[in-house]
Amino acid sequence: MPMGAGEIWTWSEGSWHQGDVRVAGAADHGLWQGASVFDGARGFEGVAPDLDLHCARVNASALAMGLEPTMPAGQMVELATEGLGKFISDVPVYIRPMYWSRAGDASLICADPESTAFALSLEALPMADPSAMPNGGMSLTTTQFRRPIQAVAVMDAKAGCLYPNNARMMREAKSKGFDNALVQDLAGNVAELSTSNVFMVKDGVVATPIPNGTFLNGITRQRVIKLLREAGMEVVETTLTLDDFRAADEVFSTGNASKVVPVWKFEEVEYGPGPVAKRARELYWDFAHA
Ligand code: PMP
Repeated sequence: MPMGAGEIWTWSEGSWHQGDVRVAGAADHGLWQGASVFDGARGFEGVAPDLDLHCARVNASALAMGLEPTMPAGQMVELATEGLGKFISDVPVYIRPMYWSRAGDASLICADPESTAFALSLEALPMADPSAMPNGGMSLTTTQFRRPIQAVAVMDAKAGCLYPNNARMMREAKSKGFDNALVQDLAGNVAELSTSNVFMVKDGVVATPIPNGTFLNGITRQRVIKLLREAGMEVVETTLTLDDFRAADEVFSTGNASKVVPVWKFEEVEYGPGPVAKRARELYWDFAHA
């Protein structure tokens, strides 16, 4: 059955439904006070690379949030695979498992499985094609907003409550005429973009911020590091500043939604062609279709 852009199928409370399932109410802790976690995996060209890792991560996020995960990751993979086979033709899809707390008072999150809602949605979502973007990639600026730390936010979960901060970074970047923001942590080092992880290349060496609890250690990031290293490239995880990015030969981002996307400009600095991003994208596609 062909799916139109934005069409969505959702599994919740034991069965598939066409459309979104609006089950969260005003007393749900997940809606009222933000106790929700999610993950996003991309299905495209008949594959969904690392779906198992995304499903395992949503369960880890649930535990970090204080929720009780109710579906084993393997079962979630089976369910997503079943849904993709039943409802999806050949369109790119965003696979989104999520948990939220239905119950709980203002100060407690209830880990009772009975109070933990789960939904898995499959949404037709076009995939960015860098070759179709103006200048072959995205433009970046800085933002006044920072990534938080574990002491003030649930940084070990991919939690819905972290994302309004990312949204205001993006809003600021767009208002300045850029596509995305290069985001710093509280110490002033580069953490990631507002929606994805970030890499730079200088003198043939690939560098990316070292996970320090302030940003999501993306599944695509980890996959791309592995693929580049296996292909013989040097990849270092280290502390990087905005000036390091200004002096880079090449910059690119990774994330499940768009995979590998080159950056053509960071404020007034323009980068040349991006051979490493191109190579990383090719390696990812080979891995996805292997
Ligand atoms: N950082 C943020 C803030 C994100 O939302 C995402 C997308 N999930 C990423 C990084 C990339 O992570 P992944 O490769 O696991 O999708």
